[in-house]
Amino acid sequence: MQPVQIYLDNNATSYLDSEVAGCMSQLQLPGLANPASQHRLGRQALHLLENARSTILQYLGAPYQGMDSPQVILTSGGTEANNLALRLQAPSAQDLVIVGAMEHPSLLMAAGQPSLCANPVRLLPGLASGRYDLPQLSQWLNDIYSGRDRYHRVALVSLMLANNETGVLNDLAAIVQLCSQYDVPVHSDITQAVGKLDFDMTALGVSSITLAAHKVHGPVGIGALVTRSPSQLQPILVGGGQQLGWRAGTEPVALAVGMAKTLEVADRARRTGVYQQVARLRDRFEANLLAQLGQAQVNGQPEWRLPQTSNIAFVGIDRQAMQMALDLAGVACSTGSACASGSGRPSPTLQSMGLDASRVDSSLRFSLSRMTTATEIDQAVEIIVRVARKLSLTR
Ligand code: PLP
Repeated sequence: MQPVQIYLDNNATSYLDSEVAGCMSQLQLPGLANPASQHRLGRQALHLLENARSTILQYLGAPYQGMDSPQVILTSGGTEANNLALRLQAPSAQDLVIVGAMEHPSLLMAAGQPSLCANPVRLLPGLASGRYDLPQLSQWLNDIYSGRDRYHRVALVSLMLANNETGVLNDLAAIVQLCSQYDVPVHSDITQAVGKLDFDMTALGVSSITLAAHKVHGPVGIGALVTRSPSQLQPILVGGGQQLGWRAGTEPVALAVGMAKTLEVADRARRTGVYQQVARLRDRFEANLLAQLGQAQVNGQPEWRLPQTSNIAFVGIDRQAMQMALDLAGVACSTGSACASGSGRPSPTLQSMGLDASRVDSSLRFSLSRMTTATEIDQAVEIIVRVARKLSLTR
């Protein structure tokens, strides 16, 4: 008999919502023209695309009409949007880019590749809480703008709203406020937070954001860089001049409509309080594990977290052995960011938080979704306790 499979890896990707799937198949089955085509069918596709862009902006709290609306640059997902966010026009050796040390690999690796980010880069460390070290950021900005640093200017600060491994939320409003004192634009990767938290791009004053649909029950293969100042970017993909030249290639109309629908459905669900329920399930999951396993510890400060994410150290147990044993026993979780999982490398996020090696090497990420049930959580706890006890004995 197949064991139950309890899916607690929703930060890697989440199951497609049936309403979103229905909306996309209604468009795709009869067929869609190329939105760049001049004929009537092309114009119909363009109309759908433009409506999808407006809906996306609306659910991000951005002006969706008129000159003030930010540019929605549709991408293949969060990775491409993050790569593009760092590809600045007129890079100068004097203009620093500050990137968080706990960012997703798609930002960290882009920051390390001169072909994507030609500016010098400095990594902002994390604190034990899992948040970024804002006093350090403040000090750097102060030193640079008072001439005490070798750099003249900061071209961009890129710090995520919610960490994909620990779920810890940064105080983005405080980050933007600090940077705005020096006129420094802020990019934020909100991929894990989108749809799960109230988000208002206008109120926050952030310059650009990265999102992807598949982390909140939307389709894989679509994301966006939403930016107020696209002219500061150098496109990665060039060709047919689509998306005003910011990202060439035929726009995937059905996926864009699917992403807009994803945000609409998530917003509706959030307004019913479903994510408070998810947070309660996450808290019950952690409390039950901690009560039964002396070596279990939650990574990241618990108050300011995404509702669906739990990162737990099972001190003394190897994270890869535990993840594999859990998979066999019926719980799907991960050893960190999906892109880095399986690589065997310790998590840069947990390292940047200053956790010791025994804790980093024994940590697993469990991520719920609005589809996770209480029964699944209780079964998962039972399985995890059994597996952890067995692995502790066989050490
Ligand atoms: N940013 C964050 C915070 C993520 O968690 C992920 C995916 O795990 C990405 C970016 C990359 O998104 P995608 O898989 O759509 O390329």
